[in-house]
Amino acid sequence: MRAPLVDGFGRVHTDLRVSLTDRCNLRCTYCMPAEGLDWLPKPELLTDDELVRLAEVFFSMGVRTVRLTGGEPLLRPGLPGLVARLSALGLSLSLTTNGLGLARSAQALRDAGLRRVNVSLDTLRPERFLALTRRDRLADVLSGLTAAKAVGLEPVKVNTVLLRGTNDDEAVELLTWALGEGYALRFIEQMPLDPQHGWDRSTMVSADEILERLRRHVRLTPVEQRGSAPAEEFLVDGGPATVGVVGSVTRPFCASCDRLRLTADGQVRNCLFARKESDLRTPLRRGAGDEELAERLRAAVTAKKAGHGIGSPEFVQPDRPMSAIGG
Ligand code: SAM
Ligand code: SF4
Repeated sequence: MRAPLVDGFGRVHTDLRVSLTDRCNLRCTYCMPAEGLDWLPKPELLTDDELVRLAEVFFSMGVRTVRLTGGEPLLRPGLPGLVARLSALGLSLSLTTNGLGLARSAQALRDAGLRRVNVSLDTLRPERFLALTRRDRLADVLSGLTAAKAVGLEPVKVNTVLLRGTNDDEAVELLTWALGEGYALRFIEQMPLDPQHGWDRSTMVSADEILERLRRHVRLTPVEQRGSAPAEEFLVDGGPATVGVVGSVTRPFCASCDRLRLTADGQVRNCLFARKESDLRTPLRRGAGDEELAERLRAAVTAKKAGHGIGSPEFVQPDRPMSAIGG
């Protein structure tokens, strides 16, 4: 074991988000243009062997939880095999997915050691789903959610981004549905990470606004002990059901951030909004030993800033969009 990954502000990093691919089978308007993006060429992606090797180094430095994401992680060929290998290292694994194909793969993923799943869903109305994602696949997402629950990937979480004038009138409907189905719903503030650079703080649906909308219909009681979790949780009508709000922009949680990110092409990012990445793939492919990889990783963590600074005039959106970094 190596020394833990502590940054200059005393934050200990134990959580890793791994992007398995930058590709996707939906085209959510706030995330990707209709024609998609310039996908990474396959030779640039980390192979399963490379990913497992890097995961071992992260583990040796105290990382214990890994969330697999993308792009759409279920598009990664052989995903259950990779999950099994990562899980065998002692990592606790979760997945963020749009849910397409989950009905087919949930059991195999669970058997391979996946513990939890977050499914992204912004609307329950088929025509809105089509407009928002540019694909007519709402039924597939819903059956993916049902399968996740059936195989015991619990709690099944649902992530929702509210967009003004598009689905912001659906907050209560989504909550009522999630409570009825036994899913844990979390609303996420839209962040400046879209390739179109269309994000506008003045029109973003803020955490305050989301809570205000919900409070018109249900009683919300804050749950203490947020820890390093990004979501602020609230008991709904006294509990035990809860709803979460992730106020990444208006209620940043940078001070307790314990996360690192690894892109599909092997770049470490110490923050979702970082403008710099640390390349692990090049040294890995030229045969670097674990010690050198660990040193590079440590340097990346040391360089982490206090916060994302979205509110400051100097803030510049990162070059890579959310789907390429790993959301
Ligand atoms: N394709 C998978 C999915 O949709 O769950 C995983 C990747 S996606 C980038 C992860 C999450 O990021 C989704 O819940 C999506 O809604 C969210 N997301 C994408 N762009 C965002 C943005 N600009 N602000 C906030 N959340 C965003
Ligand atoms: Fe794909 Fe997820 Fe982005 Fe939607 S949010 S386009 S599902 S990566």
